[in-house]
Amino acid sequence: MPQETIGYTELEWTCQYCGTRNPGMQKVCAGCGAAMSKEQKFEAPAQQTLITDQAKLEQAKAGPDVTCPFCGARNTAGATVCKNCGGDLSGAEARAKGEVVGAFSTAPAAEVKCPFCGTMNAATAAKCKNCGGTLGKAPSRLAQATQPAQRKLSPFLIAVIVLACLAGAAFIFLAGRTTEQGASVQSVKWERSIAVLEQRPAEKENWRDRVPTEGNVLGCEERVRSVQDQQTNRSRKVCGTPYVIDEGTGAGRVVQDCRYEVLDDWCRYRINEWRAVDAIVVSGNDLNPQWPTVALKAGQRDGNRTEKYQVTFLSNDKRYTYWPDNETEFKRFTPGSRWTLKVNTFGDVVAAEPAQ
Ligand SMILES: [Zn+2]
Ligand SMILES: [Zn+2]
Ligand SMILES: [Zn+2]
Repeated sequence: MPQETIGYTELEWTCQYCGTRNPGMQKVCAGCGAAMSKEQKFEAPAQQTLITDQAKLEQAKAGPDVTCPFCGARNTAGATVCKNCGGDLSGAEARAKGEVVGAFSTAPAAEVKCPFCGTMNAATAAKCKNCGGTLGKAPSRLAQATQPAQRKLSPFLIAVIVLACLAGAAFIFLAGRTTEQGASVQSVKWERSIAVLEQRPAEKENWRDRVPTEGNVLGCEERVRSVQDQQTNRSRKVCGTPYVIDEGTGAGRVVQDCRYEVLDDWCRYRINEWRAVDAIVVSGNDLNPQWPTVALKAGQRDGNRTEKYQVTFLSNDKRYTYWPDNETEFKRFTPGSRWTLKVNTFGDVVAAEPAQ
């Protein structure tokens, strides 16, 4: 997915010795003078802004800071000697970069309450304006907003689901349990039908290039047909929420992932299509099913054929109905012949075999 750079933003780090929050590009703690170690991570500050100062911008893009191999102090990329201990930095290791710090937003951050005296302070304040106590970071509203909402099932819903499962299991169990019964064929019935089709105008919708040539376009509207990384002559750019990537310089690169929605014409059109206007049905009570003869008028065509077979059994004065799947199976049920039926709990015949 193409990534676009919006700009750079200064990050923040919290001193591990005194808890002071320091601007990311400041390498030494303002509270106690300790150097930032390579293990400590940069975080998004309570109030995010884009860097506009040219010198600071150059520094933000200069490449990750290096860690002094002798004292562990942070030094600017390209420095030859450590500004803390004067050690040689030729073999110094660069800070890690590329990690996503979080979402970027310039929306004003909420004030922070001093944990010592309760005074409200600006989100960016490192120390309380009233008592001078060290302030923690205000919880990021963006971080809260991006938390996925936890869906919880209510106990009632769980009970309903459990009952539905039990009912389903009981149904499968009862439907599968069968008893065998001797029976004789009392009567048979068949029914066959052929649909009669005529051309009728119908309104349909599709992309302009999918409308059949004989279709009559009534109107179109612009819609998103697909989403892709490349721009086309008819697309619009859509970008995700901007986020910050650690550059290792105390600043982060603000980026957003963008893609292109490809637009196209979605059209309504009128077209003639074959529609069932009638059905010719024949039926009989013998074992010789026939297809009806269809007398088609001009502009008509025959359509779907359906066939239905039914056998009625008599067993100890009780009637059972069975629906054979096809003509071949149906023709086995000569009226008066004896059969062994498998009947489930609901009284449905699930299988029929000639009696031994
Ligand atoms: Zn400190
Ligand atoms: Zn050093
Ligand atoms: Zn205070």
